[in-house]
Amino acid sequence: MLLLIACICVSFDGFNFALAQKTYNGYKVYNVSIDTDQKLHFIQSFEDTDGYDFWLRPYPFGHFHIMVTPELQPGFEQELKSKSVEFEVLHDDVGLLLEKNTTVHSSKRKVRSVSHEEKAAAEFNFQYFPRYDEIVKFMENLVLNRYAKLINIGSSAEGRPIYGIEVSKYANNPVFLIDAGTHAREWASHVSALYIIQQVIENEEEFANKLNLVIIPCLNPDGYEYTHTTNRFWRKSRSQQSNRMCPGVDLNRNFDSHFGEFRSDTSNVCSRLFAGKRAFSEPESAALRDTILAYKPIAYLSIHSFGGYLLYPYGYTKILPQNWQTLDRIAKLVVERAKEFSGTEYKYGSAARLLYKASGASDDWAMDKGNVSLVFTIELPAYSDRAFIVPEDKIMTLVQETFETFLAMFNEIFNYTKSYTFSRT
Ligand SMILES: [Zn+2]
Repeated sequence: MLLLIACICVSFDGFNFALAQKTYNGYKVYNVSIDTDQKLHFIQSFEDTDGYDFWLRPYPFGHFHIMVTPELQPGFEQELKSKSVEFEVLHDDVGLLLEKNTTVHSSKRKVRSVSHEEKAAAEFNFQYFPRYDEIVKFMENLVLNRYAKLINIGSSAEGRPIYGIEVSKYANNPVFLIDAGTHAREWASHVSALYIIQQVIENEEEFANKLNLVIIPCLNPDGYEYTHTTNRFWRKSRSQQSNRMCPGVDLNRNFDSHFGEFRSDTSNVCSRLFAGKRAFSEPESAALRDTILAYKPIAYLSIHSFGGYLLYPYGYTKILPQNWQTLDRIAKLVVERAKEFSGTEYKYGSAARLLYKASGASDDWAMDKGNVSLVFTIELPAYSDRAFIVPEDKIMTLVQETFETFLAMFNEIFNYTKSYTFSRT
């Protein structure tokens, strides 16, 4: 596929780097209605094909949101019409949509050349999407409190340290581990995790008396940086692969849980769902594995965006885990709380039953091999059909809402640990 590349070289913070920003001018997002098996097979033929990016993929039927490059649009529309598939254009120009949503941040970056010291002193205020170094500074500034410390769980393929926060008062407290940013373009997840970190540390006594927390807000820092500098819709990590034109692995397919079996690709390195050469080939997924094995959490939550789902295992099979009733009960209570707080309606259930079968994911691995009892993946809601693009002035609303959802889950997990301890004595 021919990429439209505009290259600007800038000097920033005393060093030079190339900003080769991929533009999405003229890219459209189609809302395609699929209601029969025949139409489903037809639309599936575009999935994971160059030039097509499935933003929303309901299961089995419903409204698919598909981003298409300008050059493929006439042919795509023609094919939809010939198969009598109903569609409408959801977003006419993704480039324009991106511009509108990043005005504040981009203009700020254009006029200001901020030193690292200034950044460290400035408080990140959830008015824009921070770069990775700002995320790290934000965490460093927060951990001056009593029970919180910064932890380094490993290094990314490009050598960036992967940081997390540990809030721990009593060594024997059960651990609740949370990650975000596995998929680079899901910016809503990173800021949500940062807000949870901020709120937890500001009220650490209240939280630390109940559970210990480990929160990793950006598991895939290379991919995240790449979405800022080069390609806003990059999903994978950035490790070198056999084809130098196609770096990166879908980290949420790289775990040793039915690796490569469903909705993942182990041969085509260029696929958006490339699972890697083997399970745990990637330093980022290996770092999360080792962290889970070291902390032995009672609960694990992976924050993704978007879709409005609260999922529990399994993703690789429709068979439910042995404790599914507990998971289902907690999910129901959390979803009810989200609805009460903001009106957001999450769907909940097992990943394979509610969405589609996918394997090699961190949640399934955590349950089966990491021995974590309470495992959830949340797909945050999208803002007004804008998928991965959250307007900067909506960040605060989003993170506050996600925090309430987290809080409901935190309390349910704590209640679970109380009964668990009680039943063992
Ligand atoms: Zn994701």
